[in-house]
Amino acid sequence: MNTVTLKPSKEKSLLRRHPWVYANAIEHVEGKPASGATVVVRAHDGRFLARAAYSPHSQIRLRVWSFDESEPIDHAFFKRRVQRAFAHRQAFVRDTGAVRLIFGEADGLPGLVVDYYTEDSGAGRGQLVCQFMAAGVEAWKQAIVAALVGATGCPNVYERSDVSIREKEGLEQTTGVLTGDAPPETLIARENGVRYHVDVRTGHKTGFYVDQRDNRALVQTYASGREVLNCFCYTGGFSLAALGGGAKRVVSIDSSGEALALARANVEANGFDASRAEWLDADAFRTLRRLVDEGERFDLVVLDPPKFAPAREHVDRAARAYKDINLSGFRLLRPGGLLFTYSCSGAIDADLFQKIVAGAAADARVDARILKRLGAGLDHPLLAAFPEGEYLKGLLLQIV
Ligand code: SAH
Repeated sequence: MNTVTLKPSKEKSLLRRHPWVYANAIEHVEGKPASGATVVVRAHDGRFLARAAYSPHSQIRLRVWSFDESEPIDHAFFKRRVQRAFAHRQAFVRDTGAVRLIFGEADGLPGLVVDYYTEDSGAGRGQLVCQFMAAGVEAWKQAIVAALVGATGCPNVYERSDVSIREKEGLEQTTGVLTGDAPPETLIARENGVRYHVDVRTGHKTGFYVDQRDNRALVQTYASGREVLNCFCYTGGFSLAALGGGAKRVVSIDSSGEALALARANVEANGFDASRAEWLDADAFRTLRRLVDEGERFDLVVLDPPKFAPAREHVDRAARAYKDINLSGFRLLRPGGLLFTYSCSGAIDADLFQKIVAGAAADARVDARILKRLGAGLDHPLLAAFPEGEYLKGLLLQIV
């Protein structure tokens, strides 16, 4: 059996049940574990700590499968983990056509993301879309796919492992059908009575921002009769929610013409009055400033930009970018108006994000009240031992 022994006192984070071990914590490796092979992890004194996946190319050298010495890592293990994840979603996430079925570390499957589009949209009995982002889940791909099909009864599994993070694991990017039928060009996900076209093959992530479900629902609730601005709208998630909620007018900005084309198709698919929706194919930073200068005002503004800080070294520049758009957001709001503002940068934590937003409100000379702290839905659980899992944070603010 391949065994990895840690340096003295480097077992502490594993004892706290944090699921990663960095290369510099390792004293020696016994045997010749291949990429993704299961190893036993021992403390310096020889104590059993965990079974983990070995990733020889990554700084995150080990990702824990199990802290239970009696639990072997085999097909049955993956079946149990997938079934547990599916049962959690069945219990906590209902009435949606798009659910995150596996959320990596929080589901005991580090490096794996699976979204489940449940509707029959031509592909037949739904579509599972996977991202394998670590050596361990890559090595167990077939067992995981079998477990996914077994647990859900969904026969169609597509892979979207076209993510650069795979390079850190020594893995090439790849996409394609893993089993079942190929996905249709776009499939439909229904949420709160609104239909969203999803491009599973080439869209962002697995095609849809599943993590924003609860936040779309909130926007839908508060949009009635309001003028709404949705910045970084992608395929129109929040815009459609606002239209579905009875917004008077929705202005949406994105610099991707392709995303906007799908957003427009979404308006049509729902039979919404297209004259209520305006789509601006433009840079959001400049357009926000222009709208401020032109004296435009809105009742509800959504700011859900891409990850401005992909890593720690980008935090300062990202903070300035978040402040810039939030400053414009505040300036564009009428008194009593609502701002839904988000950051999906893992390197910017909730405290820092709130400080940045507070700074923007001060510069805009408005009093902003936080009505609610926002995050991803219940299908994106956060492992208590793994704060790194909290990437999406948001605030619902009202200016007074
Ligand atoms: N809010 C979306 C997801 C946003 S993804 C949703 O809920 O579905 C980020 C989006 O920002 C992408 O669609 C990308 O095209 C767009 N984008 C990135 N930089 C931009 C810029 N400078 N101006 C306008 N849009 C930009």
